[in-house]
Amino acid sequence: MHNVVIIGSGCAGLTAAIYAARANLKPLVLDGHEPGGQLSLTTHVENFPGFPDGILGPELIENMRKQAQKFGTEFKSGVVTEVDLTNRPFKITAGKEVYEARALIVAAGASARLLGLKGEKELIGRGLSTCATCDGYFFRGKEIAVIGGGDSAMEEANFLSRYASKVHLIHRRAEFRASKIMIDRARANPKVEFVTPYVVDEIIAPEGHVTGVHLRHTQNGSGREIPLDGVFVAIGHDPNSIIFRGKLEMDENGYLISRNGTLTGVPGVFIAGDVQDHRYRQAVTAAGSGCMAAIDAEKFLEGHKN
Ligand code: NAP
Repeated sequence: MHNVVIIGSGCAGLTAAIYAARANLKPLVLDGHEPGGQLSLTTHVENFPGFPDGILGPELIENMRKQAQKFGTEFKSGVVTEVDLTNRPFKITAGKEVYEARALIVAAGASARLLGLKGEKELIGRGLSTCATCDGYFFRGKEIAVIGGGDSAMEEANFLSRYASKVHLIHRRAEFRASKIMIDRARANPKVEFVTPYVVDEIIAPEGHVTGVHLRHTQNGSGREIPLDGVFVAIGHDPNSIIFRGKLEMDENGYLISRNGTLTGVPGVFIAGDVQDHRYRQAVTAAGSGCMAAIDAEKFLEGHKN
C-alpha cells in the first residue's frame, strides 16, 4: 500500500514526487511509456528559471529525478494499463503489477504528434522541434517551416516570425482548421508564406541535421523541395488520458479537467501537467502544477488517515 502513487515521470510528476517525498509520504512514481516526458526529447532549455546559461532537457529531468530520489521517492518502470478509482485504496495496474494507493496524482503528460516520417524522432533537437516557445530563439535569422493548419500552427508561425527570416507554413489542405482571426493574422504577416496543399514526405538531413524538406502536392502529386534550417511540427498533441476515460472528467480532446486547483471529481485523485493543460504546456507550469498536486494530496491524506 502506497500513500501516493504518481503516474508519469515528466516535469509535473517529478516535482510532485519531490514535494510528496519531502512531506514524508514516500511516493511511488510509475515511469510510463516516455520516461522523463517531453523534456527528455528536447535539447537546450533556456526558459526554465534558475539556469542562466540554459540546461539540456534530459539533464534537467535527470536532476529532478535525483532530487526526488534523494528524499525517498521510489521509481518503477512500466506503462499503466488500467486504473480502478471506484474505491480507496485505488488500484493501478502496470504490466503484471497492481499497486494500491491512498492518493493518486495523474501526471501522465501529453505527447506531441509527429508526422510519422523515417528518422523524424532522431532529428528532434537537430533542426526539428515540436515547441516554438522552447526552440524559436535558436532560429534567429534562419529560414524555417511550420507544419499544420490548426491554431497552434498559425500561432507558432507568427511567433517564430519574430526570429526567423522566413516561415513557410506547410499544410496538407487548402482549407484550415484554425480560427479565422488566427489565419488572418498569419496571412497579414509578411514573413509567413502559405504552402498548400502539400504534405512533407521527407525531412532532408544528410548529416543528421535538418537542411530542408521534400513536399508532395496532395492534388497533382508533383514534388517540391525547400531548403530550410528548421522544421516545427505543430499538428497537435495527444493527452495520455485514455485509461481514465469514463473515470475522470475530460474535455472533447481528452484533456483531464481539474476543479479548484488540481482536484478531480474523485476525492483523492489529483491531476497535474500537460495531461490537463493544452494552453501553457511549459516545463515550469507543469512543475508548478505538480507541486500543487502534491500539496493537495498531502492535505487530503491528513484528513483521510486510512
Ligand atoms: P488541431 O486543431 O487538431 O490541428 C492540427 C492540424 O494539424 C490540422 O490542421 C491537421 O490537418 C494537421 N495534421 C494533423 N495530423 C497531421 C499529419 N499527420 N500530417 C499533416 N498534418 C496533420 O491542433 P492544434 O492546432 O494544436 O490545436 C489544438 C486545440 O488547441 C484546438 O482546439 C485549438 O483551437 C486550440 N489552440 C488555440 C490557440 C489559441 O486560440 N490561441 C492556440 C493553439 C491551440 P487537417 O486540418 O487536415 O486535419
